Amino acid sequence: MNNSNPVSPVQEFEYKAEMKQLLDLIVHSLYTHPEIFLRELISNASDALAKVRFGALTDQTLTEGDSDLGIRITIDPEELTFVIEDNGIGMTEEELITNLGTVAKSGTLGFMQALKEQQKELDGNLIGQFGVGFYSVFMVTDEVTVETRSAKTDSEGYRWKSAGQGTYTIEKIDKPGRGTKIFFKLKEESKEFAEEYRVEHIIKKYSNFVDFPIRLGDKQVNSMTALWQRSKSELKDEEVNEFYKFIANDFQDPLDYLHVSVEGMVSFKALLFLPKEAPMDLLYRQSELENRGPQLYVKKVMIQHECRDLLPEYLRFIGGVVDTEDLSLNVSREIVQSSPVMSKIRQILTGKILGWFETLAKEQPEKFRTFYKAFGPIVKIGLNTDFTNRDKLIELLRFESTKTAEEEYVTLKEYIGRMQEDQKEIYYHSGSNRSQLLAHPNLEYFQDKGIEVLLLSDPVDVFVIPSISEYEKKPLKSIEKADIDFSAEKKAGSESLPENLLQPVLGLFREKLGDRIEDVVESHRLVTSPVTLVSGKDALDSQMERMMKMMQTEMPAGKKILEVNTAHPIIRNLSGMYMANAANPLISIVIEQLYDGALLHEGGLDSTTAFLSRMNDLIEAATLQR
Ligand code: ADP
Ligand code: MG
Repeated sequence: MNNSNPVSPVQEFEYKAEMKQLLDLIVHSLYTHPEIFLRELISNASDALAKVRFGALTDQTLTEGDSDLGIRITIDPEELTFVIEDNGIGMTEEELITNLGTVAKSGTLGFMQALKEQQKELDGNLIGQFGVGFYSVFMVTDEVTVETRSAKTDSEGYRWKSAGQGTYTIEKIDKPGRGTKIFFKLKEESKEFAEEYRVEHIIKKYSNFVDFPIRLGDKQVNSMTALWQRSKSELKDEEVNEFYKFIANDFQDPLDYLHVSVEGMVSFKALLFLPKEAPMDLLYRQSELENRGPQLYVKKVMIQHECRDLLPEYLRFIGGVVDTEDLSLNVSREIVQSSPVMSKIRQILTGKILGWFETLAKEQPEKFRTFYKAFGPIVKIGLNTDFTNRDKLIELLRFESTKTAEEEYVTLKEYIGRMQEDQKEIYYHSGSNRSQLLAHPNLEYFQDKGIEVLLLSDPVDVFVIPSISEYEKKPLKSIEKADIDFSAEKKAGSESLPENLLQPVLGLFREKLGDRIEDVVESHRLVTSPVTLVSGKDALDSQMERMMKMMQTEMPAGKKILEVNTAHPIIRNLSGMYMANAANPLISIVIEQLYDGALLHEGGLDSTTAFLSRMNDLIEAATLQR
């Protein structure tokens, strides 16, 4: 066939800098499980086969002449050669360059470096999650050849070759059929991967559920069972766990799984999984949820790898398979999206999943805790988006409180159950962490009276909890809101300043702080602290304010109310000082310092320089020899 172009040129390409670093990381850090190279190559072949099978539903010419889809592996223990071949979708020259020459997911290199710096075990188990699986082959070989031809009509064959260093080459070749053939010579230290029993074992371990035959020599190795089609009683945990690890690219067993079989208005079967931990990319970017979802099958054929329309966003960390007979095989993505069948399935699945969480909470509290720790922040989003299931979601909420130990949780129901007799509201306090929350002056009154306060330290809380205005007729209230009724707490006159001394002190604060604050009032909530800041009735919670500031959302700075504990020695002394000499310069230093101290508790003190220099003035005054 050597006609117009007798000598096909070999073009050399250079990897982008990021790619080089990534390859270096992979080859030098991922050596702990070299066997996963095989899982990754099989998974790519299986993806390529699924693509061509799906494409052929609407364009039969794609698989014409070769419709027996599968993967073939050939090894030679003498020569140490390894060949894996598929008749899947293949790649064009351009696809070769983009798919094998660049990192597809932005940020991948960053994630991997961060992990390595944290001394996390950067072993091969993680590699599939990063979309760089192909390169794991460089753990077992020094040079790889990929020969491929796209299934598109009039495509030509190409050979891609690289030693995983700085460059790769591409040349045009004659390749009779569509698909991809990858081959290489194993390094001496990796010669085990040319042994049949070893390779068979690895395929069974990682790739048993690939739904195309994997042939090693002339033997089919994988079982290809559609587990979700079985009845629940026929499922064995061990098998189900293996299946999960395969489809989710996870190396740990799932935390729990749910089998669903529905017949009626719509019919479908599902096998869904809760991971033990939030996957890496979700940890870094919650927006990843948008494009996730279980796999969608129609009559055992995979239609979509990540089908977002099966679950509401706040549940899309759940993986697995949903298989229905109520869609036609050659549906397009758009049709899937708008199909009433899908919305019915989503509605039923959401109900089943929330019921599953509830059962876990009741029957396996330890598992539920693990789940809640990993995914609670995501599930909570549902409170603001899924109003149909809001009540169920509220029941799932868990909080630390002033009466729980760290990492122990209380539900709203439990809170109500142990509320004090005359308590009319549910109190919460939000901030960035438990110890800071517990040290806050606003908590003093509640601690003193033994009133339980929920401690909200999950950043999501400030966006969702204020939207629950009440639970079982008890209003939820932030303890920093100024209109909490402390009237029963009027302290005995002997301790507080009498009215004629009180007003001048409050006036002093008002005059000094001016329009930095909304007002200055006498406090009934403070026990050991001299002053504190609280929000006015309609103001934003200060944690919320901080979040908005972090996200650089435009908003007017909300003014706070300063509450003054007139029973506190500092305030009493200040009053005396003022009476004796209204011009004493220490007076304004003390007021500024008290105000800044209150800001510090809120996490709202911007400049520490002035704070420290005033502190030194005060120390100087305190150490003055009299
Ligand atoms: P991922 O599979 O997560 O996309 P990989 O590094 O494993 O990342 O593969 C990169 C890309 O190379 C794949 O997305 C695919 O487009 C292409 N590719 C790899 N192997 C094959 C194959 N056997 N057939 C067709 N395309 C392939
Ligand atoms: Mg892959």
